[in-house]
Amino acid sequence: MRTLIHGGTVVTANGSHAADVLINGATIAAVGRGLEATGGDGADKTIDASGKYVIPGAIDVHTHMELPFGGTFAKDTFETGSRAAAWGGTTTIVDFAVQSRGKSLREGLDACHAKAEGTCAIDYGFHMIMSDVNDATLAEMDALVAEGVPTFKLFTAYPGVFFSDDGAIFRAMQQTAKNGGLIMMHAENGPAIDVVAAQAVAEGKTDPYYHGVVRYPIFEGEATNRVIRLAEAAGVPVYIVHLSAKEALHSVRVARDRGSAAFAETCPQYLLLTLDDLGNGFEGAKFVCSPPLRPADHAVELWKGLAKDDLQVVSTDHCPFDFVGQKDLGKGDFRKVPNGLPGVENRVDLLHDAGVVGGHITRERWVELISTAPARMFGLYPRKGAVAVGSDADLVVYDPAARHTISASTHHMNVDYSCYEGREVQGWSTVVLSRGKTIIENGAYVGAKGDGRFLRRAVSQDYLKVS
Ligand SMILES: [Zn+2]
Repeated sequence: MRTLIHGGTVVTANGSHAADVLINGATIAAVGRGLEATGGDGADKTIDASGKYVIPGAIDVHTHMELPFGGTFAKDTFETGSRAAAWGGTTTIVDFAVQSRGKSLREGLDACHAKAEGTCAIDYGFHMIMSDVNDATLAEMDALVAEGVPTFKLFTAYPGVFFSDDGAIFRAMQQTAKNGGLIMMHAENGPAIDVVAAQAVAEGKTDPYYHGVVRYPIFEGEATNRVIRLAEAAGVPVYIVHLSAKEALHSVRVARDRGSAAFAETCPQYLLLTLDDLGNGFEGAKFVCSPPLRPADHAVELWKGLAKDDLQVVSTDHCPFDFVGQKDLGKGDFRKVPNGLPGVENRVDLLHDAGVVGGHITRERWVELISTAPARMFGLYPRKGAVAVGSDADLVVYDPAARHTISASTHHMNVDYSCYEGREVQGWSTVVLSRGKTIIENGAYVGAKGDGRFLRRAVSQDYLKVS
């Protein structure tokens, strides 16, 4: 099967140029002008990309399909969530397998493989959430690195659930110095947050709004600085997930300025939503995630961080819970609202609209943030994240002028609300290909359950070099 994407503008992290893309089977065979004349005319299928961008399929390295949280499960399955991702121009997700306290990493990973296998619309990989750090799980880390799960998420938040103390985090970091893995950190000071949260509830402040109040930005800034310092001591790079506060960004900036291999992602919700969204009574539960949404001045700094490469990746932390039947577990106590927002379908368009059209970043930087940098950092480049000969033909024909309105009534995520209800955005994935196969065409899903395959990854130590 040969497919020719004809007449578009290829946009990559490095630049933009008018070019056709010829696909042979699952990979890109040629990129250049006038490919009809050099064999492209024999293509089985031609896709007209005139007036549109051709970009590498987007990569979301932070999703939580079916995540167990607070007695319930994130609503999207690997099947529904990966399909929604495809609609939004994302052709790879890296999700989180979860080690439950007292159990092995292996058990958690096997359970996640069993859920995902044969159901995904797009290619997928796994990170491993570590809840216990001990001799047994440290040894297991080496095995996981060897089988393509080289990235491990630890938490300074959620005492009693996912929380690791500094010694545990440091031990895990030391292990990655030996086995070539990478530690990803949820950096908020959980024990301190729990103190302030309990005081707020005791004062009768139980609405979702207070979720955003009690998780002080300084608690994120402190924990971010602390884990970066621990990584420096262990001689390893570290990746801060879902950075939300300007205090945390400051910690990353200062660390990078002194030569530290500190990396960080942010998410669309921290760029586009604010603490005010947590108001309006219990409606605010729709916006409960951790770290929380911040006052508007934080986003101003995050956009600068994205433009100047103090932040390297935009992912979603997609973790959807229905407003009715799940978020309402937290009525009367914001601490019981399941934490997480839907977003896997909207990231590419939101960042195009607010970022590129909004003038914060170039279209090349947009591609870098949503595809190329995550591919490089998480061991998928140049197989993914590139429009280059030999790369997987994960491609999106993107209409930068098309406008559409985000709504729960039209989105494909399996959740009963949208954080962006009624928001009009500019930019739309008109055709999406996964390894050469068209899976989205003009708003219709034309792929099949199980198209997606598990991706074995190896962290790029070159890219994440400690200077
Ligand atoms: Zn997460």
